[in-house]
Amino acid sequence: MHHQRSQELFAKAKAAIPGGVSSPVRAFGSVGGDPLFISRATGPFLVDADNNRYIDYVCSWGPLILGHAAPEILHAVSQAAQNGTSFGAATPSEVELAARIKAVCKSIDKVRFVNSGTEATMSALRLARGFTGRDKLLKFEGCYHGHADPFLSKAGSGVATLGLPGCAGIPTGAAGDTITVPYNDLKAAKAVFANHSESIAAVIVEPLACNMGMVKPAKGFLQGLRKLCDRHKTVLIFDEVITGFRMGPGGAQEYYDVSADLTTFGKVIGGGLPVGAYGGRGEIMDMVAPDGPVYQAGTLSGNPLAMAAGIATLDAITSSKFFSDLTAKCCDFYGELDAVLKRLGAPAKLLSEGSIFYLWFAAGAQNNPSNYDEIKTADGDRFVTFFRKMLEQGINIAPSPFEVGFISRAHTSDHLNATVTAIEKALR
Ligand code: PLP
Repeated sequence: MHHQRSQELFAKAKAAIPGGVSSPVRAFGSVGGDPLFISRATGPFLVDADNNRYIDYVCSWGPLILGHAAPEILHAVSQAAQNGTSFGAATPSEVELAARIKAVCKSIDKVRFVNSGTEATMSALRLARGFTGRDKLLKFEGCYHGHADPFLSKAGSGVATLGLPGCAGIPTGAAGDTITVPYNDLKAAKAVFANHSESIAAVIVEPLACNMGMVKPAKGFLQGLRKLCDRHKTVLIFDEVITGFRMGPGGAQEYYDVSADLTTFGKVIGGGLPVGAYGGRGEIMDMVAPDGPVYQAGTLSGNPLAMAAGIATLDAITSSKFFSDLTAKCCDFYGELDAVLKRLGAPAKLLSEGSIFYLWFAAGAQNNPSNYDEIKTADGDRFVTFFRKMLEQGINIAPSPFEVGFISRAHTSDHLNATVTAIEKALR
């Protein structure tokens, strides 16, 4: 496999773009070598600038649940584009997408569209602060909620991948109101409330943690947070940027049967176009401008191309059998993969939920990891070797030991079987 064109492009990119990339993990820093430059993609495949083809399990970091260049997305976006790409005004399509979201997410009375997951979480936090009149935020180590100032302490995703102790450029005041405790540690969360009960505006959590590898919520963890927030009149924010419309039409809160006060969305909601959203209880959402005093706005928010992609995606995933078909296919894949891991006595454990999966390179691990400290015991060098062996065999996984993989509608059992074979070879 040659990567000459990607290498040339990377050299050029580094002269014009910091680190040669528009988002840090793309630079392949933690796995070595030059990053791939992707020219096109279709179905489950990516094709790089040197014409190498890969079965893709990054799926644009989660949005592409229908696969690359899904026909209904291409159709919806090109139809919408004929009528103009952005109006900076209210549109029929945003009303339609909002109605579809309300129909499947029972905790959402109202929803506001933005352009990314980061915008969704930072707006939801401002709203929670405006609603409660309080400043403090409780978050969990290893969770990632985008790159706004209050969320970057002990964050997962790229911050974990790059091994950054924190982030420069954040004023002490902005980070000072964030309190961080380990994921799944309800006792620690309770202690924070005991010390700061009247000043915590919001608790934000990934209901299934997917930015430190995969950490599942322990039994009672999400329910415990719900109770704590009720008791202290604190806003519970579920960050469903990954899990929303991915774990089922109603996301993680339907899956775990716990409702949030505010929910943030991104990724799947835009089907590969830049869309985020935050929504929740009417009395909270009514605090958002122009109805209320919490200002939040966006030049391109709710633009018709993004809304068209969102509607087409929600139509597809809410069709009967979408999730049962996807889950059945994924379960077969996980079953095969588990058998390989057992047969080889491989120093890796498979964690999965629906179409999201993670190979945890922790030798001898019996139990599922319950927090970021446990996840970090994984063998990073082993992951790097694995990553390179997979790439050589035409399989693209995220270039980080802390990122999950995503399976789409476009991955057939043939692609999945070929992947099991490649994984077995790589592990050997
Ligand atoms: N929240 C979660 C759970 C995420 O996984 C991400 C991105 O990976 C974000 C927020 C930020 O979204 P975006 O990258 O669209 O700003």
